[in-house]
Amino acid sequence: MRPLKLISRTMVGGLYFGRPAWRVMEWPEPPDATATEEKNPEISRPENRPQLGDLLRRVCPGSTGSCTPALVRQIADLADRRARLLILNLLPAQPESLLPAALTQFQSQYLAAGAELIARCLDSPRVMVALDRHDRPTWRAWRRLADGRRFRIHTLVNRYPQAHPVILTRCLTGTVLSPASLPSGRDIVVLDPVTCWALGRFLRWGRATTRPVQVFVSGREPRLAEARVGQRVADFLRTLGIAPDTQECILNGMLAGEWIDPERTAIRWDTELISLRPPAAHEPAVDCIRCGWCVGACPVGLNPVSLLAAARIHDGLPVGDRREAVACIDCGLCSYVCPSRLDLAATIRTLRAKQLGMAAAAAELAAAG
Ligand code: SF4
Ligand code: SF4
Repeated sequence: MRPLKLISRTMVGGLYFGRPAWRVMEWPEPPDATATEEKNPEISRPENRPQLGDLLRRVCPGSTGSCTPALVRQIADLADRRARLLILNLLPAQPESLLPAALTQFQSQYLAAGAELIARCLDSPRVMVALDRHDRPTWRAWRRLADGRRFRIHTLVNRYPQAHPVILTRCLTGTVLSPASLPSGRDIVVLDPVTCWALGRFLRWGRATTRPVQVFVSGREPRLAEARVGQRVADFLRTLGIAPDTQECILNGMLAGEWIDPERTAIRWDTELISLRPPAAHEPAVDCIRCGWCVGACPVGLNPVSLLAAARIHDGLPVGDRREAVACIDCGLCSYVCPSRLDLAATIRTLRAKQLGMAAAAAELAAAG
């Protein structure tokens, strides 16, 4: 096994947002929780990788974070290779996210138990806990949790989108992931805290149908609640006394999220944040003024404005220019900084999907001979 060398690299671009301006005050029980919980005696702890994969497919089959890939996919991709590093990713996925801090504050027993179990099944002697250097309460809590266990804490300056595995693995280990590949392809497994928490709690109580969601409603205190996976977003909001009808609803953050219809969208395992606000008066976009801000902000060193042009012109540019889109991590920073209000991120997302579709089709053709 290659020795692990930790190096903190500064990312290209990225923005420092500081700590979120709110704190989670309580961890309310989900609406359908049983009043008295009893340990489920029929649940057995997995002892190895296949058993862990089976349990994950049962507990949280999809991704539990907006940017960390599903653990079940990473384990399948790892096959029988040994993971040289496990990273528990406690950096906020979006600037307004406090989920890792809240899980540490209120549910650390499940979070730590789940991470330990995964490390044991993947035969990994260490779990690196990556957290925000400026979040001192979470840092102190993890110093206590790490005592006598296999956790090693590594703090980073949280410049958005530091939590994305592409940026995280490069900052921590110098490993550059290929575009659209999983960290497990380089024998690194990135753990989302909600996966660890869900596993730890399932093994204790056998409950596996809810996940924590942060809710932001314009003009009200932000809050955190457990939502049932599969429940309609509108029904979940109504259980919190929130009428979603006349508001814009944005899933998973204002920077990189998607606008949804809450009546037609269900809570998924990767639903982290729901934001509601009165419909905004959108100012129309104007022509690019060639300021270069989008280029400076892109954390993976792309040229968003040339990708926008490539997407608009389609066949007029060399293919190589458009292939760059595959490396986009969909952070939304280019749109955020653009003074011309150009929707670069959405356009590049579409271009990326096309390029990935073409690559998959080419691979299928090659496999068919
Ligand atoms: S959305 Fe893509 S192109 Fe835009 S800044 Fe982020 S990584 Fe770069
Ligand atoms: S930030 Fe907007 S205006 Fe500036 S170069 Fe990029 S696309 Fe053009």
